[in-house]
Order: sequence, then C-alpha cells, then structure tokens
Amino acid sequence: MTLKTVTIGYPRIGPNREMKKALEDYWGKKIKQDDLVAASDKIFENNLDEQVKAGIDIIGVGHHTMYDPMADWTLRFGLLAPRFQPLVGTMSRLDLFFSMARGVGDVTALDMTKWYDTNYHNLVPEIDPSTTPKKDWADYIEMIKKAVAKIGGDKVGAEIIGPITVVDKASLKGVTLDQVVDKLIPLYIDLLKELKALGVAEVQINEPALILDKAKDLRSTYERVFTQLATVGVPINLITFYDDIGEAYPWAVKLPGVTAVSLDFTRGDTMSLLKKHGFPQGRRLGAGVVDGRSVWKDVSLASKMLKEIKDTVGPNVEVSVQPSSSLQHVPYDVENETKVDASLKARLSFARQKLQDVKAVATAAPGTAKGGVEFAVQDADVKEPPADMINRSKPFTERRSLQMATLGNVKLPTSTIGSFPQTPAMRKIRLKYRKGEVSSEEYQRAVDQYIAYCIGVQEGLGLDVLVHGEPERSDMVEYFGERMDGFLFTQLGWVQSYGSRYVRPPIIHGDVARTGNQPMTVREFIVAQDCTTKPVKGMLTGPVTILNWSFPRKDIARKEQAFQIGYALRDEVADLEAAGCCVIQVDEPALREGLPIKPARWAAYLDWAVKAFRLSTTVCKPELHVVTHFCYSEFEDVMQAIKDLDADQITIENSRSDDAVLKYLVEQGYDHDVAPGIYDVHSPVIPPTDKLMERVEMIKKSGLEFDRIWIVPDCGLKTRKWDEVIESLRNLVTATKSIRG
Ligand code: GLN
Ligand code: ZN
Repeated sequence: MTLKTVTIGYPRIGPNREMKKALEDYWGKKIKQDDLVAASDKIFENNLDEQVKAGIDIIGVGHHTMYDPMADWTLRFGLLAPRFQPLVGTMSRLDLFFSMARGVGDVTALDMTKWYDTNYHNLVPEIDPSTTPKKDWADYIEMIKKAVAKIGGDKVGAEIIGPITVVDKASLKGVTLDQVVDKLIPLYIDLLKELKALGVAEVQINEPALILDKAKDLRSTYERVFTQLATVGVPINLITFYDDIGEAYPWAVKLPGVTAVSLDFTRGDTMSLLKKHGFPQGRRLGAGVVDGRSVWKDVSLASKMLKEIKDTVGPNVEVSVQPSSSLQHVPYDVENETKVDASLKARLSFARQKLQDVKAVATAAPGTAKGGVEFAVQDADVKEPPADMINRSKPFTERRSLQMATLGNVKLPTSTIGSFPQTPAMRKIRLKYRKGEVSSEEYQRAVDQYIAYCIGVQEGLGLDVLVHGEPERSDMVEYFGERMDGFLFTQLGWVQSYGSRYVRPPIIHGDVARTGNQPMTVREFIVAQDCTTKPVKGMLTGPVTILNWSFPRKDIARKEQAFQIGYALRDEVADLEAAGCCVIQVDEPALREGLPIKPARWAAYLDWAVKAFRLSTTVCKPELHVVTHFCYSEFEDVMQAIKDLDADQITIENSRSDDAVLKYLVEQGYDHDVAPGIYDVHSPVIPPTDKLMERVEMIKKSGLEFDRIWIVPDCGLKTRKWDEVIESLRNLVTATKSIRG
C-alpha cells in the first residue's frame, strides 16, 4: 500500500541559476520585464514537471518567487511601508516589489533577517497603525491557475505563509501581533475562498512560527485564526518545519478546519511529542521524514521513522510522506556534478533526488526502504577532547603581560580584520590558475607581490599589527575546505541565501584533517613576515564557522565534525607559531547564527562550539596573542560563551552602533582585549580624522580598560578599493596617534 506523497516547496533559482541571470540582466536593463517574467515562468513550469514526473501526489505550489516569498506576501496583502507609498503609480508593480527588496534612490530597502535557523534570509515587512491591509494577490492566483491548468487541481497544494508567521516576522510599531492578525483574517478568508473556487487539493498554510518557544503563548490567536479560516471549508494543511512545535503540540494538531498537519521529524523531537500526545483521528499526518535541509540520502532513516510513526498512530490515521521542509535549502540535482565519484554521488541527494527518496519511502512497507544514511549518531556519543587540549597553559592575566611585551607594549595598538582589497587583477589570475592557465609558480608570485605591497602599505601607514591581506582566498570557508580532507566542492550546488544571492556551501563527506597534514596558511604568513619586523597576524577561519557554512554529515553529529575541524586547525595554529607568528586571529562570524531555535538547546550547542574553538587555539604558548572576530556585536545570548572562548582579544563590528555594546561588555565583566571597529567599511565615504577621534574617545569613555583597547576598522576591507582603504586607514592611525599623545 503506497502512501500519499506531498512536497512543501522546491528550489526556485533554476538548475543553472537562471533566475539570478535574468534578475541581473533585468536590473542592468539588458532585458525587458516580459523576458524576466518568462524566465521565471520557465523555472516554475519545469519545477512542476519534475515533481509530477517523480509521482508526487500533492505538489506544494506558491513559494515560487523572483526574490522572496515574504516580500511577495507583503505586497499581496498591501503591507507596503509608508516610505514606499509615494512610489505607487510611478513604476510597475514588479519594480515596486524590487524597490522593497533593494531600495530605490534614497528610499531604503526593507531589512533582511535570518529565516529561522537556516541560511536563507527574508525581507522584514514594516507594520504600524497606519497600515491598511488590502488584497493585491492577482499574481499569486495567476500562478495557482497555471498550476491547476497544467497538472490538475487535485495535485495542487496552494502554499501561503500563514498570518501569524507573517506578522511575527514583521517589524511592528505601535501595534500588537493580535491587532494585525485580526486585520488580516478577512483577507485570508477571501484568499482561501478564491483558492477553493480554483479546486486545489489543499491550502498549505505555512506556520513555522509554531516552532518558536513563544508559540505556547499564542494558543488563543491560533485558535481564533483557524476557527475563522475553517468557515471557508477548503482543506487546510498546517505546515511546520525546522523543529518540533514543543508545548504548542497538543492544541496545534487539533486546530479547527485543519485537514492535515505537517511536522518535521528530522529536527527537534517531534517523535516524542507524537508518542506522548498522540495524533487526532480524522486528519492526515504529514510526516516530514526525508530531511529537506540535508544533502544526504536518508531513505533508510526516513523509512524507519515512518514505521515508528505508523506504529504510534495506528491504522486509523492517514500518514503522508514528505520532505521535512521546503527543498529550497538543497541544490537542484546531484547528477549535475560530473566530478563527484559514483559511490559518493549515490549517497547524496539534492532536490530532484529527494523527490525519488520520498517516493521510495512511501512505496515500500514502512521500515523496509533502504538507501543512504542508516544511523545518525547523537551528540552524547561524541568523545570529548581531553582537558589539556582545551585549556591555555596560563590564565589570561599572566599571559597578557608576556604578549604585550612581545608586541612592544604599544598603547591603543592599531590593526585590521584580515583582508585587503580583492583587486580585479588578483581575481583574474586566481581564476586562470584554477583553470590551469597559469602555473602555480606564476600564481604564487602574484600572491607574494600582493602580500609585499600590502605589508608595505601598512608599514607606511604606521599600523602596529599587520596582516598579509588574504589575496589567495576567494572565500573564507572555501579556502580551508579545499586544503582539508573530507570536504566536497560542488560545481552547481547553489542554494539561495537571499534574492539573487546564492551560495555554494561545501559538503562535509568524510573525516576532516589537513590534507597530508600540510600547513594551509604558513607559506603566505612567512612571505608577509619576511617583509617586516612588525608582527603579522596569522589568519584562520574558526571551526564553528567552517561547519555552520557547510552542509554537515548526517551520519555523525555536528559536534563531532566541529571537533575534527578543531583538531585540524590546532595543527595549523601550532605550525604558524613554529613559523614565528605571535598573533593569530581565528574568525568565528557564524558562531552566533548557529544557535538552535529552542533556547533549551543553546547550552549544548555553545558547549561544543566553545570547545571546538579552544581545541583550535589553546595549543600555543602563553606569549601568543589569540584574537577572534565576530561580524556582529550582539552578545546578549552568547556572552558566557564569548568569555569561555578565552581568546585574548575580540574584534567586533561596531561603527554603526553607539557605546551600548561596549558598556554591556564592561557590565558583564568581559576583561580581555576588545577591538571595536571604528568606521564603516561598507560605505565609500572616507572617515575624517576628527570623526575617528570622536569614536576612539567614545570607546575610551565606555568603561573598557584603556590598556585593553585596540583600534581597528569594521571588517570587509576586501570589498573596497585601495585608494579608499589607504586614506581611511591613514586617518585611523592619525586619530589614534593624536589620542595616544
Ligand atoms: N578575516 C576575514 C576578512 O577580513 C574576516 C571575514 C569576516 O569578517 N567575515 O575578510
Ligand atoms: Zn566580519
């Protein structure tokens, strides 16, 4: 007996990034709006074809977008922020849509925020008392009509973002969630009526807000919403994903009008909730057992889970087999990867393969389907690193005086965050080298010349701790992944980060170690250090960031992978130290974003994240000054972990904030060195010296101990031009010197 198969979202960027190309051509005025729409339609139709061909029974349709579904619904519900109102009527609806996404003239774009714990980012609608929702969803109805005509209404699951999730994701000013939700309900009712008239199989109402801890307090809101939506009488699939729905489970699965509830069994602990509270009869359980966020084939695991689910709910509850989430988080097709060997390929599963996996799980008797990952090892089974490998040999206060002596006891030492401008010439020769068009000698010569120039500039400017400039790195994770065993780099494994920006995360597929135990960064360090008597910072990407910006393995815990990367970096730190390095920066900009959705699981994550970092860094002598860098300066949730890293210095972005964060650090008793960025690297404006002096004075007054302050710009110098960088840094050094004096 085959179970029903359902999808709840598919990649929308095109197998060859067609959407990106079309968008950029349209924005660059190379193609017309009709061409853009045609490119988008083509992707939409191909996606439908693929899912029909795979035999999916109900296909999620509706999250197809040219930029971001949240932006789509912002416009479709008339939630246009006031600053965009004057644009209405001066441009096409589509251009209005893009102006929310990208800004136009001096009208700034909507903010972007992380979509739950994924690497996708959605736009943030802005809602205040003046917002008057109105329907503007003809484009959506057109899309659903097209799907109905093409594949038949009985196969169409019309995907929409639910009202509570929309409002929860919005930035609200002067209005409450309930007030806005209540304004929206009549519109949702109208929308559901229109969808009912089109004869769709079900409306897939995405309510990922249910996975948040705060959902437990939203029971009455959810009940009010669904009681009213139920009056329409269209089948509703209540879709949740990325985690279990926790305390909301007992009432959420019973919400009125809901004919199916889709739950993620691959993250969190949905299985325990199901076993504890059961599942109401008379509605379908959408079992998200095929991991929609993993690139690994997990048919065996999914099939075992399905058996457990079936055994729990018994024969009277219909169960459908589904990916645990939208497949937008995985690339299109592993068959596009011509360089991956067959045995590895057979274990991988991208969106197209996931469709087959869902079908395989649904077709076999539960528990019997085979393929891919068999067991997923848990955090608890991971061997902890020994204490002597995660502790420095001396406490901070003792090692600091040694470090400062090495660094010449400069007050307010100046430095930068690592990269210097990535010049077109450097990019060009790197590309040629990759294609085999220039020899490694020639490439290294170019890298070395760049490094020498970079050091010369920094010496000339009078900076205190120099960097080599990272000319050999196109990406801070890729560079290391390519020099370690266990990482696979795909050719077409793109996933959407936001709008037209896609990333190609490496896939961790085996145990991680430096390839041939060869140093990864020492050669460039030596080239740099040979050019100067000033200290040059070694520059590494941290274990947690490498892990969080990759697709992890599914057969071993992430914790174990973090430790493996930690051990590899530990060897690198030891090699840098042996080469004479006395300051090493280990960047961890992704530490905070790896926080699990449920605060109850933060401690476990931060525990292994901190250990992985310490594994990397504590190998060195007390004289070595260890720096870490975060692009963020939001510490509320991670303060203890930041302290526990036991880095000698933290560098943070701070130019766009006041002294609040610095004061917070003081209040929290953070007593290691701090380097707050004093100017915004993302702006082409050269910061004048007097402005920079004000910033330094502000830092001095924040309460941070004077002796512990370093002066740096924000991160991202690689995105600027040399002349801008030189002028800005000259002012930074001048400002610092006059304050020292
Ligand atoms: N060292 C890196 C650089 O300066 C840090 C990158 C980052 O801040 N994300 O480019
Ligand atoms: Zn940064």
